[in-house]
Amino acid sequence: CGIIARIGADDGVDRLLGGLERLEYRGYDSAGIAVENGAGLAVQKCSGRVDDLKESVDDSGVYGGIGIGHTRWSTHGPPTDDNAHPHTGATGEVAVVHNGVVENHAELRAELEAAGHEFTSDTDTEVIPHLFERHLADNDPETAFREAVRDLDGSYAIAAMVEGEDAVFAARQGSPLVLGVDDEEYFLASDVPAFLEHTDEVIYFEDDEVGVVRPGDVELSTLDGDPVERSSEVVSWDP
Ligand code: GLU
Repeated sequence: CGIIARIGADDGVDRLLGGLERLEYRGYDSAGIAVENGAGLAVQKCSGRVDDLKESVDDSGVYGGIGIGHTRWSTHGPPTDDNAHPHTGATGEVAVVHNGVVENHAELRAELEAAGHEFTSDTDTEVIPHLFERHLADNDPETAFREAVRDLDGSYAIAAMVEGEDAVFAARQGSPLVLGVDDEEYFLASDVPAFLEHTDEVIYFEDDEVGVVRPGDVELSTLDGDPVERSSEVVSWDP
């Protein structure tokens, strides 16, 4: 599948949708976005193509400068509206998009359900927002995200948001993830073509790295919390 995120000050919904269209070659059974607009996280998602999502986004009028998006190629759970990403946890406080497979999802889900978490999808992915929420109860958002990622076995590229936080939290293990750097905005995506029309300056994530991306600021670190310094590079790409 494809994931995209856009971090900027002005409305970025068109950029998220444009990015998803260019990622559809990676998977196209469902699509969705979540954006922060100052009044909380707004989620729009549906089974079908990005065109179907566009219609529901147009009807709903959602907007926001910071957002995440996903085009799904399902591995766990059929392509339904409920199984489309982004996934939210029990409280709607977080939203998560994920590419890959959470191998230990059954154990994690059983543990979370025993602790009172109610699930609304059949996906392996949904454990991630529930774990993130659980760790948010006694940690700052970055620590909570890191702890949630550490709970996972399997492959993932993840982009996540927390209500009221002007940030996108990202991590990868075995699935691709690249940051696009522009003057006024940042992108995160599974692949460069998702944002190439806006910028060709990139930083590739490596396995076991976490990024916290805010308007005007990117912090990369290892999963254990050691800072990572990596300069951006210019890609040459024949679209
Ligand atoms: N395993 C997840 C799901 O089935 C993500 C699949 C994907 O990478 O699109 O929802």
